[in-house]
Amino acid sequence: MRVHENILISSLTTMRLGGPARYVLEVETPADVADAYGFAAQYNLPVFVLGYGANSIGHDEGFNGAIIINRMQGIQKLNTLTGDATWETPTEPSGNEGEAAKSEPVEKIKVMGGEYWDNVVAYACDNGLTGIEALSKIPGLAGAAPVQNIGAYGQQISDTLDSIEVYDSASQTYRILNNTELNFSYRHSLLNTTAKNRYFVISITLNLRHGQMSRPFYNSIERYISEHQLTDFSPNGIRQIVSAIRADKLPDPMVKPSSGSFFKNIYLSDADAERAEEKGYPVYRGKDGNKINSGWLIEKAGFKGKLLHGFRVNDKACLVLINESAKSYNDLAKARSEITGRVYDKFGYWLEQEPVEIQ
Ligand SMILES: Cc1cc2nc3c(=O)[nH]c(=O)nc-3n(C[C@H](O)[C@H](O)[C@H](O)COP(=O)(O)OP(=O)(O)OC[C@H]3O[C@@H](n4cnc5c(N)ncnc54)[C@H](O)[C@@H]3O)c2cc1C
Repeated sequence: MRVHENILISSLTTMRLGGPARYVLEVETPADVADAYGFAAQYNLPVFVLGYGANSIGHDEGFNGAIIINRMQGIQKLNTLTGDATWETPTEPSGNEGEAAKSEPVEKIKVMGGEYWDNVVAYACDNGLTGIEALSKIPGLAGAAPVQNIGAYGQQISDTLDSIEVYDSASQTYRILNNTELNFSYRHSLLNTTAKNRYFVISITLNLRHGQMSRPFYNSIERYISEHQLTDFSPNGIRQIVSAIRADKLPDPMVKPSSGSFFKNIYLSDADAERAEEKGYPVYRGKDGNKINSGWLIEKAGFKGKLLHGFRVNDKACLVLINESAKSYNDLAKARSEITGRVYDKFGYWLEQEPVEIQ
């Protein structure tokens, strides 16, 4: 375990806000995790588990506690026939079979929680495995991916997640939690609801298959395919399409600080979706339910491209707030309340913040 003191949270999060954390503990082995919690308990300090900081926001006063970061890396292909396992690097050669995915046997992939998520997607795609290709280029570490059930372009990690290996800080034991125990829904799981802050994710195991996604794809992918007359829908083909769509629409957090979507989309019951459609609001009826893109609400409320207290409302995806010049959490709070207030007054929907606050 590596121990650091007084590290600015702004340097650990992509929104680039937040004062000093009293301790930052980087864990490099499963045994380190128990030691890190023990270290915090010894000083009676609260714990916050951080990954890449792409969905976490720091406060000006910092965090008088211990931030624990998973630094365990590696991607392991589990051989389900023999129970054998081999460690591999994330850059395997391409081998797409192009078969219908559902008839193919499951390939179990175990990933350590400190691995960068997009390396996992690249590894899967390079091995011709389908299931997470639409989750390309989501910034963050693999251990955080199940926490808010990351999703994009019609896929979410709950579709392919088999299980996770955790340290349970309540019982001080190591456990395996399987998919059904995690109570997944849109941007939610056990890990950020009923058992928030209880489990530290050490590794995740995914069930992937050789083959490709079935059509129809998500609207924006279909649009991109017809505009560019594409025919490669292999995992790497979809990865390239999603990467191109995202690069056009979403700011790179390393260049323009942000937490990605700052607000969640609005999910509606069938009755509410009908009422919304009668009012002329665009409702997307997808596999994951009826939703209105909150970015559309923010745009129609007049915020597209506007600068609010140092935050730019991204003009291509209004859900994203870019920190252009804000230094204080208060600036974010003011921008947030202006947006949520006006959207509520105009449409009657209350926008919910997606990123987690470090406190
Ligand atoms: C430009 C941009 C685009 C984005 N696009 C998407 C998108 O398309 N879809 C999407 O779903 N999200 C998106 N996000 C949000 C973000 O990428 C995801 O939420 C990602 O999973 C965050 O990973 P992280 O490692 O940065 O998590 P962090 O921000 O470090 O942590 C997020 C939460 O997970 C918890 N956590 C982290 N690691 C662990 C662990 N090992 N054990 C237990 N808890 C842990 C933290 O306590 C916190 O509650 C985007 C963000 C940005 C900046």
